Amino acid sequence: MSQPLTQKSTDHSDRDRFSFSFFCDCCGKEWVSQIVAFTAGGLTAIDHEEARRLLWQQEHKEVFEQANMDARLKFNRCPLCGRWVCDECFDCEETKHGGVCTECK
Ligand SMILES: [Zn+2]
Ligand SMILES: [Zn+2]
Repeated sequence: MSQPLTQKSTDHSDRDRFSFSFFCDCCGKEWVSQIVAFTAGGLTAIDHEEARRLLWQQEHKEVFEQANMDARLKFNRCPLCGRWVCDECFDCEETKHGGVCTECK
């Protein structure tokens, strides 16, 4: 799996669904990714626990990668410190670097 975008992230996934949280590198504000149901590859019944587990792992990875991509739209990367921060911690009025986090301002 890829590195989570933000320094702190949480995995809320369970047997039936997947969801992840990412936290602003500056203030720690949480953004929760869209909840995605485990589809088990479209199969309605899996009687083999091991098969279910493998399918779950595969889908879990895919949903994580997607959530990690979506997080890029929710957070802003500060060009100075390289952290990913939420809109409140980002000053997009700053013109020299095209926006920096409030701590680098
Ligand atoms: Zn923030
Ligand atoms: Zn910064």
